[in-house]
Amino acid sequence: MQEKPGVRKKSQQVRNPMKTDGTGGFLSGKGDFLPDKDEFSGRDKTLPDKDEFSGRSKILPWTDSNSETGTEAGIKVYGSGRPVRLFAAGLHGEEWKDTTGILEKIRPPKTGTLVLIPLVSRGEYISTLDPRYYPGLGKEVLRAVEELKPEIYIELHSYAAENFEKLAGKDRINRAGVPAYSVLEAGVLLGSVSPHIRRKYFPKEALCLSFEIEKGRAESREFAARMLEVLKEMETRDEFIEHLKKEFPGQAKKAVEDYRRFYGEI
Ligand SMILES: [Zn+2]
Repeated sequence: MQEKPGVRKKSQQVRNPMKTDGTGGFLSGKGDFLPDKDEFSGRDKTLPDKDEFSGRSKILPWTDSNSETGTEAGIKVYGSGRPVRLFAAGLHGEEWKDTTGILEKIRPPKTGTLVLIPLVSRGEYISTLDPRYYPGLGKEVLRAVEELKPEIYIELHSYAAENFEKLAGKDRINRAGVPAYSVLEAGVLLGSVSPHIRRKYFPKEALCLSFEIEKGRAESREFAARMLEVLKEMETRDEFIEHLKKEFPGQAKKAVEDYRRFYGEI
């Protein structure tokens, strides 16, 4: 993917997420991210009844939802303030069938903000490793990342059982140019998100993960849902790594090694 000066500039802005109001302008209503600004502006300071907001969610239409391309992302916002976690599912093709429902069921976090995009696109299948994905089908994800500057970003994908080796096989680095996924439980795989979004849109200290759920397998969906319940309460990347080390030490070690290799630290 070619680097454009404009893109690089945005990436540098992302590296200083706390220099604005700490919410990237989004939660204070300064951004143009939400069509319904007034309803959100000032909510973390001036609204008297905080309880009215905790546990509340709202699905907002995206301004450029497009039924022709199958781009139809809606967004759900829980809570307020930092940290901000952004979870996205149904990123391409038919993956929404196994992943969208998981985000729809998730409950509000105890602290900070949780932003959900349960269905990014049910149009054609373009891999997130394809440089066309994020500027195309995934453009609302990119927009959310730029506006929100999330500390934690999670993608939920799904795979057919026969493709397990393609994702988790050790030679994935040679075949796809990205590390193999780690196997967690019930067919759920853990890896990083595409370098096309990781490197340009997130600071190093962000936690960016991709989960692959085995298609048509209920235990797989249930396990992924439990992982998200943990992740939605996390404050930092390191807190999650500590959690992973306790539950899945081998996978945690691999995740840290892959991360260091990606940033050239080893
Ligand atoms: Zn996918």
